[in-house]
Amino acid sequence: MTTLKGSELAINGGTPVRAKPFPKWPVWDETDVQALTDALRSSQWGIGGGAVEKFEKAFAEFQHAKFCSCVTNGTAAIEVAVRAVGVEAGDEVIVPPYTFIATASACLMVNTVPVFVDIEPDTYNLDPTKIEAAITDRTRAIVAVHIAGCPADLDGITAVAKQHNLKVIEDCAQAHAAEWRGHRVGAIGDVGTFSFQSSKNLNSGEGGACVTDNEEIHQRCWSLHNVGRIPSGQWYQHPLLGWNMRMTQFQGALLLNQLQRIPAQVERRTANAEYLTRQLDQIPGVRPMRVDQRVTRHAYHLYMFRYNASEFGGLPRADFIKAMNAEGITCSSGYVPLYKEKAFRNPDVYAAAFKLASRPMDYDKVFCPVCEKACAEEAVWLYQAWFIGEDHRDMDDIVAAIGKIRKATTR
Ligand SMILES: *Cc1c(COP(=O)(O)O)cnc(C)c1O
Repeated sequence: MTTLKGSELAINGGTPVRAKPFPKWPVWDETDVQALTDALRSSQWGIGGGAVEKFEKAFAEFQHAKFCSCVTNGTAAIEVAVRAVGVEAGDEVIVPPYTFIATASACLMVNTVPVFVDIEPDTYNLDPTKIEAAITDRTRAIVAVHIAGCPADLDGITAVAKQHNLKVIEDCAQAHAAEWRGHRVGAIGDVGTFSFQSSKNLNSGEGGACVTDNEEIHQRCWSLHNVGRIPSGQWYQHPLLGWNMRMTQFQGALLLNQLQRIPAQVERRTANAEYLTRQLDQIPGVRPMRVDQRVTRHAYHLYMFRYNASEFGGLPRADFIKAMNAEGITCSSGYVPLYKEKAFRNPDVYAAAFKLASRPMDYDKVFCPVCEKACAEEAVWLYQAWFIGEDHRDMDDIVAAIGKIRKATTR
């Protein structure tokens, strides 16, 4: 097995390519302090403060959607969305295995059954050509995750959905501002879910939202996250069953202010990421992901590329990442195939969903080869905040570190 020898490498005691940290996340200043203290001084910290409603309106508009309901987090948003489009206990929902656990666990938490369908090898997004084979008479919806902030093939996915009368839920937790054919994601399918958790491109520590163009679905999202109330009803009138998943005014106020920063940050991420792609295209063994022509805006929550050990003298990806980290370029190998998570292998956890399902679901037998390869040997992630710097020098350091490691393995 290849080990890294060159004494110039930081992992062997050499000088790291990069000594200074990457840009900090989150970005905030006195205007955020002001927004938060204004919310505090209003004494209306929950319902009635107005900031959440204002943000809902602004965010719906921002995502090219008609309606938005803010909720406590992105996981809750998926639970609400699955219920809001009418998926019932025991019904099946198609999900990709290459995503954060919430995409699938939220389905199980509302007693619906996630069915894993493999991803595309060059985008790591759900592969629309593989959906049809997974559809049964219990399938009701598809969750299209826009992984890393790159919109999934929404033309392909909505076409299959239409043909089989399925709902499309877009998991946009990583895709604020992302666009498919000039239209921002979220309301292209039936409903879109967002996260404002601290790592995301728009954040208030925690938080989430459901956006849609469909008034009926919006009303259900509103009721489901608001203890089953209806907008025209009384405080103690609960025609529907719902959770309390309301956001606080502090989150709403902070998000409203943070939203103003997004356009400039999106521009920086795009410029830096596209510059990095041009550089990596020149280095054998590190292939940037394909960005479909119909993706008119990539959110770059993550910058992913595919590592090929054979171009690095057989150096395993784990050692490549260790060497990168030593050079001052923090990166990671990302997810494991979701169906391998212990959470999905404990039948007690999801007994209710499966009692109502029409066929046994054994995740031990699931194997998605493209996802397996991405997780086991190929994927390398760089985090969004590395891309908000003012010029290309941060990117040049990433390129230099990769070049340095490659040189040490191939001479
Ligand atoms: C972050 C994330 C979620 C969950 O959002 P939380 O706010 O952390 O609950 C769901 N899906 C994806 C793809 C995510 O990245």
